[in-house]
Amino acid sequence: MRFYSTKNHRFVVSLREAVLRGLAPDGGLFMPVDIPVLEKNVIEAMPEMSFREIAFEMASVFLKDDLSSQQLTAVVEKALNFDVPLRPLTDDLFVLELFHGPTLAFKDFGARFMARLMARFVEEEEKEVTILVATSGDTGSAVASGFLGLRGFRVVLLYPSGMVSEIQEKQLTTIGGNVTALEVEGSFDDCQRLVKSAFVDEDLKKTINLSSANSINIARLIPQSFYYAYAWAQLPEKKSSLAVSVPSGNLGNLTAGLFARAMGIPIKRFVAAMNANDVFLEYLRKGTFTPRRVIPTLSNAMDVGNPSNFYRILDLFDGDAERIRKVVYGVSFNDQQTREAISMIKKRYDYLMDPHGAVGFLALRQFVEEEGAKSWQKIVLETAHPAKFKTAVEECIGEKVPIPERLAECLKKEKFSIKISNKYEEFKQWLTER
Ligand SMILES: *Cc1c(COP(=O)(O)O)cnc(C)c1O
Repeated sequence: MRFYSTKNHRFVVSLREAVLRGLAPDGGLFMPVDIPVLEKNVIEAMPEMSFREIAFEMASVFLKDDLSSQQLTAVVEKALNFDVPLRPLTDDLFVLELFHGPTLAFKDFGARFMARLMARFVEEEEKEVTILVATSGDTGSAVASGFLGLRGFRVVLLYPSGMVSEIQEKQLTTIGGNVTALEVEGSFDDCQRLVKSAFVDEDLKKTINLSSANSINIARLIPQSFYYAYAWAQLPEKKSSLAVSVPSGNLGNLTAGLFARAMGIPIKRFVAAMNANDVFLEYLRKGTFTPRRVIPTLSNAMDVGNPSNFYRILDLFDGDAERIRKVVYGVSFNDQQTREAISMIKKRYDYLMDPHGAVGFLALRQFVEEEGAKSWQKIVLETAHPAKFKTAVEECIGEKVPIPERLAECLKKEKFSIKISNKYEEFKQWLTER
């Protein structure tokens, strides 16, 4: 399959190039030239298939020109080596748990798949590849853990000192192996500036082979479409109408869901669940897209003021807001409502949601009321484990949140970071000396 740039539909590249470049030279995002519909018999067989079997079928659509079926199997098996359970809350309301990966959030799907694909594509190169990631929290640990132990790569994470939560800092600084965490005396913007400066530094490029693993890489979206199919496949009986609620920030997860729908997975409506950062909601209501400054919220992974994947969604519907509205319903909620939802869901369903999933739950409920969808089947995507937001969740429910084994292990380890200032020369010197 080939991929075009959202800024110039005639600029078309191979999968390899799209994955290794990340972003098109004109600043556009890569999109598949066409999204083929899966064969009817493949979709009908999905209820009998495992997650990895479904992943293989769907990945083949995108990757079969570039990878042999053996290579594809290896990527799928190694990257997606954890469960994706669908938990029933009632007969027709379900939660798809996307937090069973190593860093307890759904970013693991995209980051691990991208890392394995990149590893496949740089196998032939002899010079070690350095992956630079500026992170304000979750993305960094998912990417680093995706590349952990992959030969030919070293990962350098930059995070702002004192600006990430204690759990996030542990997750960033205890990975070890080929991953190093740089604790930058400065803000997240300083971290991003250091990374950007490195990418345009021709002198640095002579000595090291740099690559980016940013969140808009198409290799991160492709695997996220797989779990939408698996969610549908796991429904005990299939009714005619299914809605899936997606806690949304940069709109990558929603875009991946729209890919799955375009491939023939029978999802009738998507609910774009947002917090106070709801520029996409404004687009759905008024047809205008106006990026705004970020407002910090409880569901902080959704705090995005200028969601990049908006342009991918526009392309999927030829820029027609009316067509988008027919498929995507949007609504937003504030932190107080989110807190109340966490406590209500615990009481009513004995289920513990994280703040992102709680926004998804509220949005789904609003959709059902407003669109008269009581008889529909409904799925909420739970994008993170509640233990990642332990303090906030404990305040809502008034009891302790159990910590899963893999997080407890990481919290026990000693933090290891290298402190640097926010000066580019110091960062560069560190990079070239290692
Ligand atoms: C990244 C993230 C989101 C938002 O997903 P997008 O693809 O950016 O819309 C929601 N929840 C959690 C826990 C996340 O880490």
